[in-house]
Amino acid sequence: MTQSYAVETFDHIFNEEGEALAGDVDQETHVMRLASHHHHDEVVETYLHEVLHVLLHKANYGSIQMGESPNEDIVNSLSPILLAFIRENPAVIRYLRKGFA
Ligand SMILES: [Zn+2]
Repeated sequence: MTQSYAVETFDHIFNEEGEALAGDVDQETHVMRLASHHHHDEVVETYLHEVLHVLLHKANYGSIQMGESPNEDIVNSLSPILLAFIRENPAVIRYLRKGFA
C-alpha cells in the first residue's frame, strides 16, 4: 500500500460531459478530486467513496462492471456503511492500527 494519491479540492468539479460531480479519482495520474462546496459530511463520505475505488482498483476489481460505471454500485453501497462502521467502532480502528502505534 505504498502508492500515494494527491487529493485536490475545488469548489465544483465536472466530468468530461460537463456534469457536476462530488468527486472522482484518476487511477492513471493518482489524482483524487473532491468538490468542497458540499456539506462536510458529504465531502468525507465522497473521500471514502473514492478511496474504495482506489482499493478495488488495487485489488484488480477496478473494471468490474456493476452499475452505470465500473464498480460504482458496490462503492455507493459500501461507502456509507463503512463510514458508519469506522465512526461507531473507534476501538476496532485502534485494534486494526495496533501494529503502527
Ligand atoms: Zn464512484
